[in-house]
Amino acid sequence: MVNLHLLKLQLTITDYIVAKRIRNSSDPTPYLNQLPAYTIARCPYCLAAISERLDTYSVQGWSRSYGKSVYHPYAVLNHCEHFTLVEPFFHFHGIWPDEAKGMFGPEKPHVIGTLLESGKCLAVIHALPVCRIENDTFVPRYTLFMISYFSEQPENAYDTVINFNRRYTDEPYTPFPFAEPPYDAPQWWDLCYWGSQKLLFWLDSNDPDLPLKSGDCNSFPYGNIEGRRFSHGFPYPLPKSYDFKR
Ligand SMILES: [Zn+2]
Repeated sequence: MVNLHLLKLQLTITDYIVAKRIRNSSDPTPYLNQLPAYTIARCPYCLAAISERLDTYSVQGWSRSYGKSVYHPYAVLNHCEHFTLVEPFFHFHGIWPDEAKGMFGPEKPHVIGTLLESGKCLAVIHALPVCRIENDTFVPRYTLFMISYFSEQPENAYDTVINFNRRYTDEPYTPFPFAEPPYDAPQWWDLCYWGSQKLLFWLDSNDPDLPLKSGDCNSFPYGNIEGRRFSHGFPYPLPKSYDFKR
């Protein structure tokens, strides 16, 4: 399990279930305020720690985000002026997540290459474990990968992603900030490549201060992640041809 030592479990099962009852109410802040605070990235421009509260107790209640926060817009603790967007990727490690409901992106993380190739953004990847409740115990089973983007012109960069994704979105819908890598851009999946180009950084989870790191494939910690490469809604079944255990 990646970065298991970073997992924060502060609530009992009972306290968690009680707190979460207001997850979908008009004011979920009392629940959100009880969630653990995590550093999710560090800005490559100003080095500010980017932090949010995340529900790492369970995947229940999670779904694909709109890019301005990992879990919930009311759970953002610190975003610097360069923060542009963040894309979460849940990896279920071969477990069928009965408790998940909603649309999830690919398991295998990828960059938004158009933002990096154009020089509009620098990206940072980090990962945290997420639990499932088994026999009234929080058991870390899943991995949440997060790729955050930073820019000196964040609004311009965000608009660039939206306009890029219009080609995949029917009118009159507004595109999501995320789309799977185009077929003619397989390098978006190659995190090691972007790391070696000094366009994708990572947090050194062996250091309590979680400093930014960059380097080639020998030092990049997330270069060999495999998994589902397409978005999927749960609890709907995956295609019969898909080998979920791979
Ligand atoms: Zn910054």
